[in-house]
Amino acid sequence: MSQESRVAFVTGASRGIGKAVAIRLAKEGRHVVLASRSEGPLSEVKAEIEETGGAASVCAVDISDRKAFAEAIEGVASEQGRLDILVNNAGITRDNLLLRMSDEEWDAVIETNLTSAFVAMRAAARPMMKGKFGRIVNIASTSGLVGNSGQTNYAASKSGLVGMTRTVAREIGGKGITANVVAPGFIQTDMTANLPESVLDSVKGLIQVKRLGSPEDIAAAVAYCTSDDAGFLTGQVIAVDGGMTMC
Ligand code: NAP
Repeated sequence: MSQESRVAFVTGASRGIGKAVAIRLAKEGRHVVLASRSEGPLSEVKAEIEETGGAASVCAVDISDRKAFAEAIEGVASEQGRLDILVNNAGITRDNLLLRMSDEEWDAVIETNLTSAFVAMRAAARPMMKGKFGRIVNIASTSGLVGNSGQTNYAASKSGLVGMTRTVAREIGGKGITANVVAPGFIQTDMTANLPESVLDSVKGLIQVKRLGSPEDIAAAVAYCTSDDAGFLTGQVIAVDGGMTMC
């Protein structure tokens, strides 16, 4: 089958990086299922995609509700008759220093950022195996590679994605399914909108290309990892961070 007829499921598609990924994949001809909790913004993204001739549908789901999330993915695979691409992008932060971090802050971040990706990959693996093709991309973070003060929970969740992705890549690589991690550095989205100017200035000093990233910078990497051409790329961690970590 051609790359153009493939079905992609993108979480966190209501704004930021997930929205840019969804628009990019739709531009390349995929039918994109847009998932997040808020139906209104998802419908706006769907309209934006359809205005330019793309195809999309909306899936309002809370990815921290394991049962609902798995059922949503299984439902899409059965309605569309296939599921080729899964981008686990939705994520949250609940930053606090180690000594102050509550169990609730820990649990919320692990459930939303890490457990949801496990639930999604488990649900998506069967239809991907059936189609003898799959492209999984988990969106981690440079925090998960080098750590970041105040983000014990977030860094653990993102680092966990790396080990989990590499394991899945080993388990199902022989079925035509690849699994990779894209690890963004500092990207201009709502997630980073409230960082103090002083933090942004010091961050920019560490970025070799001397600017923050855009959601489209991440979408470009995801587009390659999910393309038919990327069948020999699996178990990799691609840091898209303007050279901040160089690891
Ligand atoms: P964002 O602008 O805050 O968007 C987060 C997205 O996740 C929204 O679409 C949100 O949709 C969705 N989401 C959050 N909780 C959800 C839940 N329980 N169920 C369903 N959807 C949920 O974040 P972003 O900056 O685009 O980040 C996207 C990903 O990149 C995250 O995994 C983040 O950790 C990672 N990342 C970002 C940066 C950065 O600098 N921005 C750097 C490194 C990594 P609703 O609110 O509509 O549910």
